[in-house]
Amino acid sequence: MSAMVDLRSDTVTQPTPAMRAAMAAAPLGDDVFAGDPSVNALQDKIAALLGFEAALFVPTGTQSNLCAILSHCQRGDEYIVGQQQHCYRWEGGGAAVFGSVQPQPLNHATDGTLPLADIEAAIKPDDAHFARTRLLALENTLGGKLLPQAYLEEATALARRQGLSRHLDGARLFNAAVAQAAQTGGDARAEAHRIAQCFDSVSVCFSKGLGAPVGSALCGSREFIARAHRVRKMAGGGMRQAGLLAAAASHALDHHIDRLADDHALARRLADGLAGLPGVQVEAPQTNIVFVDLDGPARDRSAGLLPHLAAQGIQATGLYRLRFVTHLDVDAAGVDRAVAVMRDYFAG
Ligand SMILES: *Cc1c(COP(=O)(O)O)cnc(C)c1O
Repeated sequence: MSAMVDLRSDTVTQPTPAMRAAMAAAPLGDDVFAGDPSVNALQDKIAALLGFEAALFVPTGTQSNLCAILSHCQRGDEYIVGQQQHCYRWEGGGAAVFGSVQPQPLNHATDGTLPLADIEAAIKPDDAHFARTRLLALENTLGGKLLPQAYLEEATALARRQGLSRHLDGARLFNAAVAQAAQTGGDARAEAHRIAQCFDSVSVCFSKGLGAPVGSALCGSREFIARAHRVRKMAGGGMRQAGLLAAAASHALDHHIDRLADDHALARRLADGLAGLPGVQVEAPQTNIVFVDLDGPARDRSAGLLPHLAAQGIQATGLYRLRFVTHLDVDAAGVDRAVAVMRDYFAG
């Protein structure tokens, strides 16, 4: 059988030979003493790229969001967030557990946005009954969806008028930027900057579509990043010769942003390939994530699908709602094989 086609997540990528070479060549120091030149260079690079004064390299996106929320909020404060957002749903309740910061989750509209009227209605008055509403947290892309730039501008302007800070979980910010650049005819880096500048802080993952093995960065003002640095230390995220990892992230920023368009094209290829199967509803992907909902007879056969795919060397996740994610280590032949196996399964 030919190589595995792993469509579970864009986190599964292996560092490329060029990325490994960049890691091997990286000058290193002890970052807890701020003495790792490769970490410092990465932090300067991502801060400049997104238009912030400073950045902090952290091991994970989860820790990055935690550092952000605990730096924007105090005990007894709350943050407004979407039900499906990672920093509410998928991070073990860390902001509440470690920071005594209460989430105020809102339902998403079908395009992934949080309706402005709902945000406004969720902001608590200054009254002893209530937690203090301090922060609006958004995510882009959200489940692979690109939030419209006009929406980001309106929602963050509303938050600013109401005295809230604004945080973006941009784990897949560059997927958003590449998709937005395809719409505007602009440049992906410029679009990333435009999205980021709606916010007071932005978290970016290097270990998703950008293809680095480990790491995220949190960007913000110098003063904000100094607070986040303390939280990172408390969370056990002060790493030593972390330049080895920062060099991989830096290589990804230099070489792996524009190629995200290839992942987006492969996601469309996968979606198009599955279209028209009875009981198989495919959402047109905007970036690198394809969701497939199973109905009727297809739903009845769903339990056997993932084992059948795995037996053919294809990995995905989900049951009635399947998720396929394209990335650096998947090619058109792999996508076509996944499509053929699924067409065969549902036809048979
Ligand atoms: C993956 C992800 C994170 C967390 O990143 P980890 O490095 O896995 O902790 C945060 N937010 C979003 C939107 C993500 O997709």
